[in-house]
Amino acid sequence: MRKKQGGMGTRAVWAGEGTPAWEGAAGIPIVRQVAFAYEGVDDWRRVVLGKAKGHIYSRNTNPTVCAFEEKCRQLEGADAAVSFSTGMAAISNVFWALLSPGDRIVSVRDTYGGTSRLFLEFLPRWGVQVALCDTENHEEIEAEIAAGCKMLFLETPTNPTLKVLDINRLARAARRRGAVVAVDNSLATPVNQQPISLGADLAVHSATKCLGGHADALGGVVCGRKDLVERIFRFREIHGAALDPTAAYLLLRGMKTLHLRVAQQNESAMRIARYLSRHPAVEQVFYPGLPSHRGHEIACRQMSGFGCMLSFSLRGGLPAVKELLKRLRTCWRAANFGGVETLVGIPATTSHVECTAEEMKKLGIPEGLVRYSVGVEDCDDLLADLAQALGGRRRR
Ligand SMILES: *Cc1c(COP(=O)(O)O)cnc(C)c1O
Repeated sequence: MRKKQGGMGTRAVWAGEGTPAWEGAAGIPIVRQVAFAYEGVDDWRRVVLGKAKGHIYSRNTNPTVCAFEEKCRQLEGADAAVSFSTGMAAISNVFWALLSPGDRIVSVRDTYGGTSRLFLEFLPRWGVQVALCDTENHEEIEAEIAAGCKMLFLETPTNPTLKVLDINRLARAARRRGAVVAVDNSLATPVNQQPISLGADLAVHSATKCLGGHADALGGVVCGRKDLVERIFRFREIHGAALDPTAAYLLLRGMKTLHLRVAQQNESAMRIARYLSRHPAVEQVFYPGLPSHRGHEIACRQMSGFGCMLSFSLRGGLPAVKELLKRLRTCWRAANFGGVETLVGIPATTSHVECTAEEMKKLGIPEGLVRYSVGVEDCDDLLADLAQALGGRRRR
């Protein structure tokens, strides 16, 4: 099995596919069947023992789900991949499969709200020490790694203020301590950022977001080093957070256009960020593609595009944000991102539903912050919509 076959677009379309399925169907069918049947006990045993290829029971493996894993594996340029029912299941299973009581995990304060809950509430209860650092403070992260680290867990860019972490630099520090490095790559996608080539052992995704891209299926995936992925798979088999085959099918179909969607979103988000940064009603714009962004230099080094998500604060604070959200037309007001439709929300109703107001303040999330996930609509229409909603005419 080759690691990568062709460019990003060719892999998005063909990876995991290409063998005619049932009755020669040109594509991956949805195999909803829970069990797989055998003529004789000997063949069956060989598959159970891993001596022959095949499937036994869909909590363990399923052909539609395996095709999804193979597509993700190739897009991330990884040795192996294992999928999950959701992104949070993927992240939880990484922790529960690889950490033990007494281990220490180093991460940052700005991780996705659900991940942050695992760090603050659940991992400590299981005897895992958690060291959370200031997200952009690379020296502090390196010092915490040096103080003892079984796993380094990064997320970059972060949500909703798009803070950027230097994966290569921090992975080197973790490697010196013999720690496993995992990176949540949900926001960047493998099109814009490849954590494994930057030194990470594992790239983790909420496939629900950009990979699927159509906001119609939940899923998660972990790609990376074979020995680690195998341990995570063994845990998932028993833990049971398996991806549903219909969700796998929807995610596979969505991923065929990943490179096209992400290219469009990169371009539109950049234009919108530039436009907003010159608008008088806007206080601050957070987008790693802007030279004014604190993480711009690192982002230029490790990303080939800056992604679909930007955020901005309004001078009028929360009342102005409420007014803007009411006036916007070409978007859903909903808690998601990375889909073909533009999505708008505020952190308290989206990425940080799980956080208290005080926790959000500590993270430096402005009260009047708007999170804007750019879809694949015509960018001119999105700019016009923002212009009318912000009041005043659109200026280029
Ligand atoms: C949404 C999200 C998750 C969780 O994914 P689910 O599929 O909703 O469980 C994890 N990490 C990031 C960065 C996310 O945006």
